[in-house]
Amino acid sequence: MMLLDGKKLRNEIASELKTSIDAYVSKGYVSPKVAIIQVGMNKESTLFIENKKKFGQKIGVEVVHVHLPYNIPEDELLKEIYALNDDNSVHGVIIQMPVPKHIRREVCVEAISPLKDVDGLHSENVKALWVHRSDGIVPATTRGILTLLEHNGVLIEGRNVVVVGRSSLVGKPTAMAFLNKNATVTVCHSKTPNLEFYTTPADILIAAAGVPRLIRSQHVRPGQVVVDVGITIEEVPERVAVGDVHFDEVADIVHAISPVPGGVGPMTVASLFQNLFDAYTRIIKKG
Ligand code: NAP
Repeated sequence: MMLLDGKKLRNEIASELKTSIDAYVSKGYVSPKVAIIQVGMNKESTLFIENKKKFGQKIGVEVVHVHLPYNIPEDELLKEIYALNDDNSVHGVIIQMPVPKHIRREVCVEAISPLKDVDGLHSENVKALWVHRSDGIVPATTRGILTLLEHNGVLIEGRNVVVVGRSSLVGKPTAMAFLNKNATVTVCHSKTPNLEFYTTPADILIAAAGVPRLIRSQHVRPGQVVVDVGITIEEVPERVAVGDVHFDEVADIVHAISPVPGGVGPMTVASLFQNLFDAYTRIIKKG
């Protein structure tokens, strides 16, 4: 069984990004800068932002944490986003989810300049993925999954890919990205009856349902490549991150599998900064 090691690849991507950024800075360009807006004080969000800060520091990216009060009115938040759009020293803008209920997530995402939308959620970037235009920004988790597979020599064109999950954040963009790479794609969801009927024949199985250990021995077959996107934090008997795949049952059957933690999670962070670097170079070229 081949382990699809996201941590190792993340570190390789970090050093590649650092080399590329150093080259720009040595030519006199400013360092890349990303602003992460957090509304309120969600502890998990703060932890995610800290991780992004650490990664940014390693590679020479300035990560600015814009922390706004929980009860900020939506129009004030929009003003903050517009100011970051207009700030030439900022190359990426992220709204850390979740936002409080009185804030409309879609309205805020649409307010971000598509050029700086490094999460790839703005409708312009969604459209670019939909029509297979290469100048858009692909969501980081989707990009991370593709990079992890391609780096490990997994052929995508012509393969039978099954994505379990159809969220706008993960399932749908991932299915579309595989389709753009000439895979034959099936998307399953919570109303799919007899899940194993679809998952077992897959050449590549992407599990992104958020249901711990959903994928078990009866859902897979020898020769399959399994990517586990799911992350659920279980507190008992100890605090641990659990994937959508029952790793111990599945690992002995399939050809390759990504672990949780240490698979898609680290790849998502690395891919986010690849998106930022792409945005940075595009913005610099535009002048
Ligand atoms: P989500 O918005 O809750 O979507 C889950 C999707 O899975 C939905 O489409 C749902 O179907 C489907 N689903 C739920 N139960 C199912 C079942 N029993 N069988 C088949 N499909 C089922 O979650 P998300 O944002 O896409 O995230 C999915 C998972 O990935 C979560 O664990 C999340 O924490 C993780 N994640 C990880 C990373 C990373 O970097 N590794 C990044 C993002 C997300 P319906 O549409 O019918 O409800």
